[in-house]
Amino acid sequence: MAIQWYPGHMHKAKKAIAERLKSVDMVIEVLDARMPASGENPLLGQLSAGKPKLKILNKQDLADPERTRIWLDDFNSRPDTRAIALDASDRQAAQKLIAASRALVPNRGGIDKPLRVLICGIPNVGKSTLINGMLGKKSAKTGNEPGITKAEQRLFLADDFWLYDTPGMLWPKIIVEEAGYNLAAGGAVGRNALDEEIVALELLDYLRRHYLPLLQERYQADKNESSHWRDDQWLEWIGRKRGALLPGGRINCQKAAENTLTDFRDGHIGRITLETPQQWAQWLKTAQQKEAILKAEREAKKAERKGKAV
Ligand code: GDP
Repeated sequence: MAIQWYPGHMHKAKKAIAERLKSVDMVIEVLDARMPASGENPLLGQLSAGKPKLKILNKQDLADPERTRIWLDDFNSRPDTRAIALDASDRQAAQKLIAASRALVPNRGGIDKPLRVLICGIPNVGKSTLINGMLGKKSAKTGNEPGITKAEQRLFLADDFWLYDTPGMLWPKIIVEEAGYNLAAGGAVGRNALDEEIVALELLDYLRRHYLPLLQERYQADKNESSHWRDDQWLEWIGRKRGALLPGGRINCQKAAENTLTDFRDGHIGRITLETPQQWAQWLKTAQQKEAILKAEREAKKAERKGKAV
C-alpha cells in the first residue's frame, strides 16, 4: 500500500511555489527530526536550488539524539544549507531560528532590505508552534494585497524580517514507500487517508529491527522469546497487554494499532528516528528503479497501442 496524501493539482502548486520563491531570500523547511528525509518536499528542493535553506529538525526531544547528529551533519554538508535541531520546550527556539536565518543571508536586513523568508513544512510538524514563538506577543499581520493568496500569510517578525507562511503547500507523488509509512506513523497524514493497522505493522517491523530493547521495555516482553517476533506477533502482544480484545478473546488489531501509534507519537516507546541517511539513500534508489520500470512498461504499452492503431 503506497500512501498518497496530497493528490492532484501539482502543476498549479508548482507554479505557485515557483512564483513565491522568486520574491524570497531564503527558505525555512521545518522537518520532523524522527523522519527528516521523509518530510522534505522534493518539489521545493528542485525549485529552490541556489537559494539559502534552513532546515529545522523539530521535535528533537522525541528523536534519537545520535541519529539527529548524523542528520544534521548530512544536511550541513549540502550546498546552501544550514540545519539546526529544535524542540518546542526550548525557550530560545524562536531566537535561534531568527539568528540562524539572519546569519544565512547576512546581506539582507534593515528596513530597505528586509529579509524575506518562506517557511514550510508537513502538517503537524510544529510549524505553528515555532511561528507563534517567533511572533511572541506581536499580532500576526496577514497580507491582503496583490500577489499574496488568501491562504498565504505574510508575517512581520520585525520591520526587516518578513515571513511568508503558505499552508497547504502541495507535495508531489511520494515515490518512496517508506516515506509514506513514516509520515503516517508520525501523524502527518490525515486519519482517513491511512490504514492504521498497516502503518502500525510497518512501524513495529522497523522498531523490532532497530530499536528492539525499547520495544521490549515498553511492552514488558520476555527478552529471549520476543527477540524473534514478527511485526504481527508484536501487534498481538501489544493488543493483549492493553486489553484490546474482541468478544471471544480475539485481538482487536485496530485498537492495538492505535495504541502503538499513539505511544510512538507521544514518545512513550523512547527516542526514536525512523530513518538514517544511508537507509534513505537505499530506499530512494529502490523507489527510483521501480519508477523507471513502471515508466518503461507504460511506454511499451503506449507503443503497442500505437502499433495496433496503424
Ligand atoms: P503544525 O501543523 O506544523 O503547525 O504543528 P503544530 O505547531 O500545531 O504542532 C503539532 C503538535 O506537535 C502539537 O501538539 C504541538 O504541541 C506538538 N509539538 C510542536 N513542536 C513540538 C516539539 O518540538 N516537541 C514535541 N514533543 N511536540 C511538539
